Amino acid sequence: MTDCDNRKLKQIWSEVSEDIKIEIGKDSYNTWISKLNIVDLDEGMLKLSAPSNFIRDNAISRFSNLIIRLFNSYGSNVKSLNIEVYDNNNPKITENSDSKNKVATQSETSMSSNDLPGLKGISVLDKKFTFKNFVVGKPNEFAYAAALRIAESEIPAYNPLFLYGGVGLGKTHLMHAIAWRIKEIFPEKKVIYISAEKFMYLFIRSLRYKDAMSFKELFRTVDVLMIDDVQFIGGKDTTQEEFFHTFNELVDNNRQVILSADKSPSNLDGVEDRLKSRLGWGLVADIHPTNYELRLGILQSKAKRHKIKISDKVLEFLAMKISSNIRELEGALNRIVAHATLVGREITIDVAQEVLSDILRSNEKYITIDFIQRKVCEFYNIKLSDLNAAKRQKTIATARQVAMYLCKQLTTKSLPDIGQNFGGRDHSTVIHAVKKIKERISIDREFATDLEILSKSIEN
Ligand code: ADP
Ligand code: MG
Repeated sequence: MTDCDNRKLKQIWSEVSEDIKIEIGKDSYNTWISKLNIVDLDEGMLKLSAPSNFIRDNAISRFSNLIIRLFNSYGSNVKSLNIEVYDNNNPKITENSDSKNKVATQSETSMSSNDLPGLKGISVLDKKFTFKNFVVGKPNEFAYAAALRIAESEIPAYNPLFLYGGVGLGKTHLMHAIAWRIKEIFPEKKVIYISAEKFMYLFIRSLRYKDAMSFKELFRTVDVLMIDDVQFIGGKDTTQEEFFHTFNELVDNNRQVILSADKSPSNLDGVEDRLKSRLGWGLVADIHPTNYELRLGILQSKAKRHKIKISDKVLEFLAMKISSNIRELEGALNRIVAHATLVGREITIDVAQEVLSDILRSNEKYITIDFIQRKVCEFYNIKLSDLNAAKRQKTIATARQVAMYLCKQLTTKSLPDIGQNFGGRDHSTVIHAVKKIKERISIDREFATDLEILSKSIEN
């Protein structure tokens, strides 16, 4: 899947190039960046081409972070950069080449249509980030409802709306969804979506070019201003000041302001107190970490859009094991789909485990055997030392089997490994425990509910 069509990619690249020129100076720019061409952006991998190994190596070692950061400030989601050295037969994007046109029709990203003058490239909205594509569950239902309400209100319902939550949980998605919905039902409204980084950068640039007035005008004539990731505003005094004034003016004039951050207003680092308190005046809506149901729902909804069928078992497995965030969950699904397409074989849990070993390993960090054991002991009100000793008392034996079962379900540890962590027991003991617990789950409702509660408390 391609993240963005070629014309738009080229457009973003030319904006990014301009930004780079300002950041690194003309000379460096001419030497290293001006010779790069944009090739593709696919599943978070940005591909550029360079005319020589020398330029490629230097560009990668010196500027890859900058390139990725600036690219993302236009709303893209670039995770990695790859620069290939081209020969003349195999170079850059051209708008009319047939194969590229095919990609263009599959494009899922689009530039906003009512950009204000001078705002070229700011409001890049992702076509996929709509309310329709947003799966609602307990952790995000409040934020979703608030976003929808704001989008559909003629005059500001709550001002500002402050969305916050951990990385990859859907803040940007919700903001874009608001913008799309407003464009649909209030096409005359001027909407700007911008990252806080970009906002600051434009502000600093306007100061450098002594053009602060038009910057101010620009932002003060919008109906809806959305600034994403405002945690980055902390620390820079003049920008904070400017931000504060822009913010006040908009709110005073009854324009809708929507902000996102990874923390609540009061927990923002390096932000002045008066601004912190001002940010919390409207509606503060947080997005909680995902739970199993939401993750499964998201996987099912995304899997439907792929042509390849992925069994429920595999989706359940992913929802169970990958609990970090939704971005990573999507990445895992994409990788599985890519694998299935290439290999043309049905994806089983074993294959998924193999293809995703790195992601699964990093997610495992959050749930360790030790953690599960502690939680189970808490639940059954027994001592940790009892769990691993040779005791056969009924409660302790049950707790031990439950803990083994949960270790099998919630970690990727092998059976011998799990046994080892329970006072050096054999892997056959673990197999037996898992079997016993599964049997009991299927016949004992109350027990099944207990286990569900327990496993949720471990996961979240
Ligand atoms: P954040 O801005 O909070 O870091 P994003 O909005 O970029 O996170 O979301 C990361 C990815 O997860 C995006 O591809 C987004 O579409 C997807 N995503 C997040 N929440 C949901 C959801 N509730 N339903 C469907 N996709 C979601
Ligand atoms: Mg975001």
